[in-house]
Amino acid sequence: MPATQSREVTAAHRLDNVRYAIRDLAVIAEEVARKGHKILPLNIGDPLNFDFQTPAHIIEAVYKAMKDGKNGYAPSQGVAVALDAIRAEAVRKGITSVQDVFVTNGVSETVDVCLTALLNPGDNLLTPSPDYPLYSAILNKLGIELNTYSLNEDDGWQPDLIDVHKKIGPRTRGIVLINPNNPTGAVCTRRMIEAIAELARRNNLVIFADEIYDKLILDDDQQISIAAVAPDVPVVTFGGLSKNYLAPGWRIGWGIVSGDAAQVKSYAEGIQRLLRARLCANHPEQYAIPAALEGPQDHLPEVLNKLRARRDLTMKWSTSTPRVSCVAPRGAFYAFPRIDIPEGDDVFVKELLLQKNVCVVHGSGFGQKPGTQHFRIVFLPNEETLQKAYSGIADFMRTRYK
Ligand code: PLP
Repeated sequence: MPATQSREVTAAHRLDNVRYAIRDLAVIAEEVARKGHKILPLNIGDPLNFDFQTPAHIIEAVYKAMKDGKNGYAPSQGVAVALDAIRAEAVRKGITSVQDVFVTNGVSETVDVCLTALLNPGDNLLTPSPDYPLYSAILNKLGIELNTYSLNEDDGWQPDLIDVHKKIGPRTRGIVLINPNNPTGAVCTRRMIEAIAELARRNNLVIFADEIYDKLILDDDQQISIAAVAPDVPVVTFGGLSKNYLAPGWRIGWGIVSGDAAQVKSYAEGIQRLLRARLCANHPEQYAIPAALEGPQDHLPEVLNKLRARRDLTMKWSTSTPRVSCVAPRGAFYAFPRIDIPEGDDVFVKELLLQKNVCVVHGSGFGQKPGTQHFRIVFLPNEETLQKAYSGIADFMRTRYK
């Protein structure tokens, strides 16, 4: 038989626009580190890279589950004790019209499943700009055109309601609301939550409420669940152990479907069908869910104290540094300063990494408003590391943009 000519195996076209700047940048950082430079990592939102530890009692719960033989496949929806704990958490969040709950491998999988179960070719979904890039990556994978609404920097990064309204078309099926927000650190006001709920109600939109940071509120704001404000509107609320409970490596997230029972029935069944097709979420780690949600919450005051001090340091630096301005973050552990520079923020970020070994992520990686330049800071490192990084950034800007 004549040998066939070997052909390059190329990635599918649907991946052409799939990007995840946060991890893409880590590849360059690894190269710099290999050359012997110490990276100041302000790029990845993993508390375990810094002085934060998973609470011991939730580790114990997983360990016990493993020893008790919970090592086979779990039910596709999740183990009963975890589902009960999530339902109880929904009640604490004020969500009264829960129709279904399920456990996934991180909120990342919840997002994938929920978007896949909803959207048909030609539909669209409103996502914030700037956004957490997982949403656009999944929409690109599904071949769904992006339909972004602006977060208004002049209004503390609250959603721009006029823009949301303008972007709703006949094929708009839903809206993503990330609260507290990544990358801006904004916490939505009650007025905003109510206004978005009303827009969703009037336009038959499903709301995807990403509340993975709901316990990381730095000031006196109340984190309001949109599902609590709008019990009649179809909402999927996302939560997980990665951030509030400092266990991102366990890959545990969940979804809470709420709204009118008849209205969400078929969609919730669609989600369950997909959950069955992927078998189950990590099994022993699910036993950490009741331990986390119903056990001691002692780690939270300490986490919040550290984050407040680091946020304040970040703001002190940004207000005293030329060409930098920053809306003060009020939740999560991200800041999204604006920079006034004569080149793209992607160039800024790359050069900063190469010259000062400070790793931040460019605003363009979060689909920011065209014509603006930003970068995202993760303020999880301790004060000494942050101080070093901020001096490095100020130094870099002084010499590069005289
Ligand atoms: N949603 C937001 C807004 C996030 O910032 C993240 C992670 O950084 C995720 C979802 C994904 O979380 P998980 O670790 O549960 O997949």
